[in-house]
Amino acid sequence: KDSKVHMNNHEDHTFINYKNNVKNLEIVRKRLNRPFTYAEKILYSHLDKPESQDIERGVSYLKLRPDRVACQDATAQMAILQFMSAGMPSVATPATVHCDHLIQAQKTGPEDLARAISLNKEVYDFLGSACAKYNIGFWKPGSGIIHQIVLENYAFPGALLIGTDSHTPNAGGLGQLAIGVGGADAVDVLAGFPWELKAPKIIGVKLTGKMSGWTSPKDIILKLAGITTVKGGTGAIVEYFGEGVETFSCTGMATICNMGAEIGATTSVFPFNNSMVKYLEATERSEIAEFAKLYKKDYLSADEGCEYDQVIEIDLNTLEPHVNGPFTPDLATPISKMKEAAPKNGWPTDVRVGLIGSCTNSSYEDMSRAASIIKDAQAHGLSAKSLFTVTPGSEQVRATIERDGFLQTFREFGGQVLANACGPCIGQWDRKDIKKGEKNTIVSSFNRNFTSRNDGNPETRAFVASPEMVVAYAIAGDLRFNPITDKLKDANGNEFLLKPPHGEGLPAKGYDHGENTYQAPPADRSSVSVQINPTSDRLQVLTPFKPWDGKDALKMPILLKAFGKTTTDHISMAGPWLKYRGHLQNISNNYMIGAINIVNKKANTVQNHYTGEWSGVPQTAGWYRDHGHKWVVIGDENMGEGSSREHAALEPRYLGGFAIITKSFARIHETNLKKQGLLALNFKDPKDYDKINPDDEVDIIDLASFAPGKDITMVLNPKNGEPWKCTLTHTFNAEQIEWFKSGSALNKMREIEAE
Ligand code: SF4
Repeated sequence: KDSKVHMNNHEDHTFINYKNNVKNLEIVRKRLNRPFTYAEKILYSHLDKPESQDIERGVSYLKLRPDRVACQDATAQMAILQFMSAGMPSVATPATVHCDHLIQAQKTGPEDLARAISLNKEVYDFLGSACAKYNIGFWKPGSGIIHQIVLENYAFPGALLIGTDSHTPNAGGLGQLAIGVGGADAVDVLAGFPWELKAPKIIGVKLTGKMSGWTSPKDIILKLAGITTVKGGTGAIVEYFGEGVETFSCTGMATICNMGAEIGATTSVFPFNNSMVKYLEATERSEIAEFAKLYKKDYLSADEGCEYDQVIEIDLNTLEPHVNGPFTPDLATPISKMKEAAPKNGWPTDVRVGLIGSCTNSSYEDMSRAASIIKDAQAHGLSAKSLFTVTPGSEQVRATIERDGFLQTFREFGGQVLANACGPCIGQWDRKDIKKGEKNTIVSSFNRNFTSRNDGNPETRAFVASPEMVVAYAIAGDLRFNPITDKLKDANGNEFLLKPPHGEGLPAKGYDHGENTYQAPPADRSSVSVQINPTSDRLQVLTPFKPWDGKDALKMPILLKAFGKTTTDHISMAGPWLKYRGHLQNISNNYMIGAINIVNKKANTVQNHYTGEWSGVPQTAGWYRDHGHKWVVIGDENMGEGSSREHAALEPRYLGGFAIITKSFARIHETNLKKQGLLALNFKDPKDYDKINPDDEVDIIDLASFAPGKDITMVLNPKNGEPWKCTLTHTFNAEQIEWFKSGSALNKMREIEAE
């Protein structure tokens, strides 16, 4: 139990400290005197001050010391730019950066990768040089998707990781608490400050029975999303337990945890189990597996008698494959119901493209099961009716499935094997088979399916399903197809039923590492200089925001009263805008261009309050800022749902916004807004949203007495009519109020450093 075990095979200075975790946990145990869930054990053992920290689930704010930070290339640019402005010589917490989001899918993996390396050269040079300078591990383009690389190399049971990407929870499949955060939170931890999280509630998901046939781990989370909706996990960690937990692979568990982001959960986690041991062994980390076994009882499992805030039970014996969508991942349809659901809802039944892979579903097991279905179809003389794409999650997976023949099977089936990157999952897809605006259906094994996410076409109905189901759809070409009951016709016109998929959880011959795509920081970092071209349109050194002027904000125009869902994709679109993630001025030109204006039900068309002119949202916001007018946005439910994208908070701040007022926020977006010095406020009475006219002027008053738990008053000044008062609530604590006063969390951090 006293061994010194490395956290991973890439760093020689980082060691697993289970002993300290248990020591901290015992301190908390003495104070709270109750059994803990597994997630609680990890959280409380990472407290900054276990002896004095207030702990009440759903109420207190925990100050935590994560073991590691992971950033993907789109969010890392801004996180590192912010870290640089804190003026420190190296990161205080182990960290990695992963180049995965900026590679557009056009042709084949090698061609797309070569083009991306040339197109994004200045960004990769910046990230590579900054990583070398500040002691961060750098995974070059082509290495794979952040969450897959973390699972293969860095995740281990009982650890606490934060990542600047919403699907960071993927590592929960290896018993780690892995939480998606905004870049600003990552900057805190990189700079050595504790990280703050509202103590999550714990939702227990009890899995009973065993899956079989066409059902796969993906169906557990698709079913759960249908039960909880996209908001059901908000403020909570989903912890799986029950006999079913032991019945599937580590990568299957990762898929389930990955998509916990779609129900708004803080993260999801499985307790340490034998599948994790096997995965650690297969990924050359047997020492960690052995070490973890010693701590299974004390640390790496839930205590007997622990209590969950809510328990949901899923019977794996009766679980059907599900297909979720379109437009939202919680619209769950079991395949037996799709025959009626598709025509009833007007979903085009012709499946134009089937896409497998992504960080969610590109494990060896996924690929081997997908290949088994294709082999069966090929034996009957069939190939893909729909277009078919494959995105391997990592170079290791790609090289292994190439060696074992699966990629060849996919190619023979008519598949297009893309780069080891996010590609179509994040809109990096040069889709050619339809015109923009054409109504069509695609099915992917990805996790998200918001409007326009994959191909920028608002008329695309994107469904998410297991890779097995995606392959079945690609063979049949029809959304109504149910492989369990529906026969296909072979090349000779004879009917046959596809055999249920089968595959291996782990490669029998071991993983093939493929090309070495990792850049370790050099031993001597003193001579490294960070590369930023001052004339770049993609990278821009940050200028600190101005502190609050100490005054109430009066007569502010409403930039936009948003109608319906406003996700981070609506607030700061991805796709072509990804290239400006390191340039705040340029990326701010996408602010809210996807949000719907309640006045005209149009996107990116708002009226200037002063001139009466109709224009784009970012142009109008910039006009207000340049003419000295602060402004507000009014939003509906769960504003900022989706990703951890801090640009969705940086942009309104850069454009002169003062407050974002909604019925409710998604957690990460709300924190991001606070970090950038904006007021994130909620209607006390959600009905007040309906009473606000988009051309009202808004006062936010009594800010001198802004305090934790104290309501805020907003005065609405209608063009015609009497002013009226509306009460707003907020979740700012004392420290977060300081961020607002200083102009941003980073400003506050700099003030503290200077003291
Ligand atoms: Fe990349 Fe999609 Fe995974 Fe996000 S969800 S990390 S975009 S593959």
